[in-house]
Amino acid sequence: MGGNSPCASCKLLRRRCAKDCIFAPFFPSDDPQKFAIVHKVFGASNVSKMLQEVPFHQRSDAVSSLVYEANARMRDPVYGCVGAITFLQNQVSQLQMQLAIAQAEILCIQMQQDQHTANDPDQLGFEEEEEKCFLLHDNGFSVAQVQETLKRESLWT
Ligand SMILES: [Zn+2]
Repeated sequence: MGGNSPCASCKLLRRRCAKDCIFAPFFPSDDPQKFAIVHKVFGASNVSKMLQEVPFHQRSDAVSSLVYEANARMRDPVYGCVGAITFLQNQVSQLQMQLAIAQAEILCIQMQQDQHTANDPDQLGFEEEEEKCFLLHDNGFSVAQVQETLKRESLWT
């Protein structure tokens, strides 16, 4: 940016870098690849329009997200960063499911302990009681979902 040297964008587009160049604060001439990639994916005029719609103090973040998206799109031309988002969302669902099962198991063990201290310990068999606990439990997931997972884990008969 220093002196009269044009920013990376104006250098690539071979134009004079005006004092109020919208790209200059975010695309310094020492990092030409940063602009080259957003230009290739979004086009310079679209990037310019997108930046104009954002208040100045948020433009730096907007540029970071455009660069991130452009890089993702280069690596994965079909899904771009949606590929990563989908992968992570699936992981979140799986972990939420595991958490629900773990919480159900904790609740079940707590109920067993409560009952064993309060009543005759031989009143119910361990497995029978465990089934009852899982039928009662619903922690944001349907009982059927939990049952399905337990079936897979051979815990449900
Ligand atoms: Zn410029």
